Amino acid sequence: MGSLFSRNTTPVYRNRTNQPKNYSGVTPKIYRCKYHDYVHYNEPWTDKLTGVEYKAGYYDEDGNFYEDVVFSKQGVVSDSTTAVCKCDYCGMEDSRPWPDREKPCIHCGGTMHLVSQIDTLVDDENDSSGSYSYDDSYSRGKSSASSAIYLLIVGMLFFSLFSGIIDTYHENQRETYYNPSSFQSNSFDSKDYSDNYSDSYSNSYNIPTLGDYMFLKEEGKGFVLTDEADYKDNFENGGYKHLSLDSDGNYYDASTDMYVWLNQDIDPPQFQYWLEGLSSEYGDYGWMEYDSIEECWYIETSNENWEKLDDATYEKFQDRLWHIEYEF
Ligand SMILES: [Zn+2]
Repeated sequence: MGSLFSRNTTPVYRNRTNQPKNYSGVTPKIYRCKYHDYVHYNEPWTDKLTGVEYKAGYYDEDGNFYEDVVFSKQGVVSDSTTAVCKCDYCGMEDSRPWPDREKPCIHCGGTMHLVSQIDTLVDDENDSSGSYSYDDSYSRGKSSASSAIYLLIVGMLFFSLFSGIIDTYHENQRETYYNPSSFQSNSFDSKDYSDNYSDSYSNSYNIPTLGDYMFLKEEGKGFVLTDEADYKDNFENGGYKHLSLDSDGNYYDASTDMYVWLNQDIDPPQFQYWLEGLSSEYGDYGWMEYDSIEECWYIETSNENWEKLDDATYEKFQDRLWHIEYEF
């Protein structure tokens, strides 16, 4: 294994300018590649002297930032490499194995594009990366600040993990208690629908055809249903929403953490909304409806008891409350 010995020779790195400063996390590594040399910083940090905030990730010799870099060796990216991908539709980003990079968005089914920069490692050995050598100013004053940041990061990780568990718990609760929702998932299937309802009932309303996705366009004080072609042509201009159908028969809007479904079990049919953080306060209940005539929200606080959303609650959540205007 001659390559083991070549590690001891000092690699020639490109001259570095415009570099981030005063990092206090674990020693960053440098990756010498065909196009750039990348220094990888494991944690985000703030330069205490200048107040500049730096993101975790890769910085090349000119100080350009990359969220992620995929390293190929002799033109081949190993299957065990992870890549960062982003959905063209809903904007969700994830980290996934390299071979899965073209698989559709797990959230909405949209097409994904690669966020990671791709570059070829110059060295051939398994670990071609060296530790980035720091001048004294980088390691000075490390102890207290870095442990504080470390605790903060651990705390944040713990919190996000914990709130994830809580979310899942609420999700499960909702699935368990909110039976009409699971019932609704059947009625999206037209066959089941006609089995359960007489034709005269289903024909008496202007029921929109909803598929796996709901496309919405901002209009007036709310949103109106639109189609995929309109969405594709115009979503980049803003004012559009793209919601995917989940297994419970609800359409989910990630930007507001709100679910909507079309309740056809009531007369007239209604779009009903579930806003995480508000609806979830009501246990088995908490679904909401928007009254377009009164221009206000109602929330089901207990069985068939609908209360007008009070002003204070509305103001607290108004940034995340949106509704669909539709004539049934
Ligand atoms: Zn997506």
